[in-house]
Amino acid sequence: MATRIPLIAGNWKMFKTGPEAADAARSLKSLLAGVSGVDVMIAPPFTALATVGDVLKDASIAVGAQNLHWESQGAFTGEIAPGMVKAAGCRHAIIGHSERRQLFGETDGDVNRKVQAALAVGLIPVLCIGETEAEREAAQTFSVLDKQVRLGLEGVSLQNPGDLVVAYEPLWAIGTGKTATREQAQEAHAYIRGLLRELYGETMADAMRILYGGSVKPDNIAALIGMDDIDGALVGGASLEPETFARIVKLGD
Ligand code: PEP
Repeated sequence: MATRIPLIAGNWKMFKTGPEAADAARSLKSLLAGVSGVDVMIAPPFTALATVGDVLKDASIAVGAQNLHWESQGAFTGEIAPGMVKAAGCRHAIIGHSERRQLFGETDGDVNRKVQAALAVGLIPVLCIGETEAEREAAQTFSVLDKQVRLGLEGVSLQNPGDLVVAYEPLWAIGTGKTATREQAQEAHAYIRGLLRELYGETMADAMRILYGGSVKPDNIAALIGMDDIDGALVGGASLEPETFARIVKLGD
């Protein structure tokens, strides 16, 4: 089996001004100095990307955007183009987060356009997928994941396994304090990897990272990451506090 270096990503959502984000990034940089064997990414709000990028320029912590638009420029008031995100120093872009899908009506078609646009400028999309509580209770988890992966990645070709990250985030576990059991998460991750094998072949899929997201905390990260197909975490609430996030990166220590 391919060795996959874990990725721990923090999504700061609509929290922290530029100065607050810079302070948090400085703290993280010192808390994580010397930590190896794990990749780290944080996604601050757009207004803090440049400042945080500057603070972290000589640290091994990547910066990501929380969203982008698929057009490269134009009259799209309020939107941010992939090239702008890239020029601001981002390596990753979170795409299709459940809050974008649920609160802002993003469709799988939009997600697909964003994934393609991110790849076209050399950003690594972090494609978020996951079922609602009602869908899980109706035994539709796999069919929802199937649709989100196939439509989100329709026509997407990848050169390297590191070019794209998938994040499985069951909606019922986001910001609720409810975490999927490690067995529930592993089952979904194994299913997603099976889909990636169909789309990209075994060698590629086995080297791609699939993150878990949903109330990840210092006390549950080790159990989750101990599962075969869980290659890291996308962390919301617990990423806002540098000490807590650093403990997650250190797998709970
Ligand atoms: C998220 O929003 O991606 C997330 C996983 O949030 P939380 O960790 O707060 O559940």
